[in-house]
Amino acid sequence: MAAFVHKIADKLHLGPHHVDAATDATQPKPLFDHEKVTVIFVLGGPGAGKGTQCERLVNDFSFSHLSAGDLLRAEQDRPESQYGQLIRTAIREGTIVPMEVTVKLLENAMGDVIASKAGSDDGWKDGKGRFLIDGFPRKMDQAEKFEQDVCQGSLVLFFTTTEEVMLKRLLKRGETSGREDDNIESIKKRFVTYRDQTMPVIEYYAKEDRVAEIDSSPSVDEVYAVTKAAIAKVFAEKTT
Ligand code: ADP
Ligand code: AMP
Repeated sequence: MAAFVHKIADKLHLGPHHVDAATDATQPKPLFDHEKVTVIFVLGGPGAGKGTQCERLVNDFSFSHLSAGDLLRAEQDRPESQYGQLIRTAIREGTIVPMEVTVKLLENAMGDVIASKAGSDDGWKDGKGRFLIDGFPRKMDQAEKFEQDVCQGSLVLFFTTTEEVMLKRLLKRGETSGREDDNIESIKKRFVTYRDQTMPVIEYYAKEDRVAEIDSSPSVDEVYAVTKAAIAKVFAEKTT
């Protein structure tokens, strides 16, 4: 059988990698099948409005919203966590927490949600699920690890605006958020990390035609109208 497949592959000019992946049943598969579990990555600079838009999408599309930042803050505050100090320092310095920690937290959270929401409504029947993974993948190694081990993403929602707008929004949010990183020193560092580490991830997905870029400078309602249409398109394509 394998020899036969190799012969066909040769005719199609496919490399050995394609053949091995197609014929090797022992190759590890992601934990969740992307045909059933829809994963939308949500990216954009700090303060671009990711969380705000996700909140609205949850109501309209029965998503589960998992924010990488929120999961990391919860892990940081968990008394038995061995990563508390590492996470605290990364958040204050605006750097990326090592991918092993972040991917594992997301994988666990997705499993918990699927178990608890199973059958709760149309988006969650027969092993199906739908997730907004907010603030992730922020670095290329996370993207690769997550798609290989956990689930392939269907789309990156990419919210974009100027650093001037983001800075203004974050300083305003900082008046009430209580977040250790909503201050001018941390914000500047977060902008650098975003430019250097996260933009290449967005460029990678853009080349794969998996990005919906949305200008998040206008009002929340205006941004949401465009966002909602982009997500509706994903589900329309999935059912056809
Ligand atoms: P992110 O999750 O990308 O860090 P948030 O959704 O928390 O950003 O938004 C940052 C701040 O900006 C919040 O205080 C939020 O209320 C505000 N905000 C979000 N979107 C808009 C918008 N379109 N116009 C004005 N303010 C906004
Ligand atoms: P956020 O809540 O999305 O603004 O993220 C706050 C901080 O948490 C970031 O500045 C990082 O230090 C950390 N963080 C959030 N998401 C990730 C991620 N995907 N990978 C690593 N660190 C992250």
